[in-house]
Amino acid sequence: MSPAGRRVAVVGAGPAGLMAAQTLLEQGLRVEVYDAMPSAGRKFLLAGRGGLNLTHSEPAAPFLSRYGNRAPRIAPWLEAFGAADVRAWSHGLGIDTFVGSSGRVFPREMKAAPLLRAWLARLRASGAVFHMRHRWLGWRAAAGPAGLRFAGPQGERAVQADAVVLALGGGSWARLGSDGAWVPELRDRGIDVAPLRAANCGFDADWSAHFRQRHAGQPVKTVALACGSGPARQGEFVVTEAGVEGSLVYTCAAALRDEIEARGSAIAWLDLAPDWSQERVTAALTHPRGARSMSSHLQSRLGIAGVKAGLLRECVPAEDFRDPARLALRIKALPLRLLRPRPMDEAISTAGGVRFEALDEGQMLRQAPGVFCAGEMLDWEAPTGGYLLTACLASGRAAARGVLAYLGGRP
Ligand SMILES: Cc1cc2nc3c(=O)[nH]c(=O)nc-3n(C[C@H](O)[C@H](O)[C@H](O)COP(=O)(O)OP(=O)(O)OC[C@H]3O[C@@H](n4cnc5c(N)ncnc54)[C@H](O)[C@@H]3O)c2cc1C
Repeated sequence: MSPAGRRVAVVGAGPAGLMAAQTLLEQGLRVEVYDAMPSAGRKFLLAGRGGLNLTHSEPAAPFLSRYGNRAPRIAPWLEAFGAADVRAWSHGLGIDTFVGSSGRVFPREMKAAPLLRAWLARLRASGAVFHMRHRWLGWRAAAGPAGLRFAGPQGERAVQADAVVLALGGGSWARLGSDGAWVPELRDRGIDVAPLRAANCGFDADWSAHFRQRHAGQPVKTVALACGSGPARQGEFVVTEAGVEGSLVYTCAAALRDEIEARGSAIAWLDLAPDWSQERVTAALTHPRGARSMSSHLQSRLGIAGVKAGLLRECVPAEDFRDPARLALRIKALPLRLLRPRPMDEAISTAGGVRFEALDEGQMLRQAPGVFCAGEMLDWEAPTGGYLLTACLASGRAAARGVLAYLGGRP
């Protein structure tokens, strides 16, 4: 039986929910989109503020490896809708894309707003009906899993659909709608939800007042950073009042967070001169410095000054700082002790969420037949680089295909 004309409620108007809606509309279903906020895609718009990184141009294998031990679960999503499809989708909405020097893919204008505007217009033209300011409260008693309760502008409202896609996001930036308040509702229904945790987040460090006053707000570039047995990655980060933030920190954030959870604190190993070998650094520093201070020696021989020199002062014991051979070792492996992740609400994304074991192969909740899940609310994580949006979009598409199969159409 064709599912055309059947009614699907999509709850959550972020990238995952909107992509589920698009896929269902393409197959002739009636789609109603509900969201607690006054307008759609608020986090998506925020993501565009610093340059919307839609996806990444690297080959499929390294791309997939960014999802860590969840890669086997994400692989089918990306096979059906990968980086090239994300770009084609954007082009189809009239928004050209380009590959930046790091291999990251951005819309030509870098912004999310034109893309979102074109997308919403296309969805509306295809028949999507949007119900904003509708907060999903849970399920109606004795109405089955596709019987929903919403708090809307006119009070509580019951909605009955043939199938439901939940795409409620993670637990960061609550003021944009992604507040994780859905977690207890799903758990009460016996659905296995891993605790939400900060991912792609900054960390607190125990800066001295002197270091904080002199260097908070300054970028540290170019350096390499490693955590545990993981590979060192090159890039930049920012010293903040509280600790560290920025793209290079995010690449190691999951490992740092896990180490802090296991041991109480974590060490991030910094290489302040990643383009120099240890031998070259040692030779430069052990070169006679005459009457010059160690600081001016560092600057003239290695170009290490400002915040990098400040980090050495902050993290190297005074006796090592005076010893050129030992200082040279520290320049290549500076231990930066991190105390805790920044609060989850500040994070770019969150780990945890509905476990894959709670879903069948069509992304339907085993405990709630007819209800499908997509996006960041599922239990996976990835670094920044376009991997988040790509998987959210692809999972929205996969959930919609699950709905189509469930309602009797071809998957
Ligand atoms: C500052 C910042 C920059 C980012 N930059 C990038 C980037 O460049 N590239 C990238 O790949 N990713 C980026 N991200 C991450 C990306 O924005 C998210 O991973 C993505 O938006 C998640 O999509 P989603 O559809 O799963 O959830 P969301 O976008 O969080 O959408 C969930 C929706 O569900 C709604 N909702 C929640 N609960 C309810 C409820 N009970 N009832 C009704 N509605 C509800 C919310 O209002 C929201 O609209 C960034 C994130 C941040 C914060």
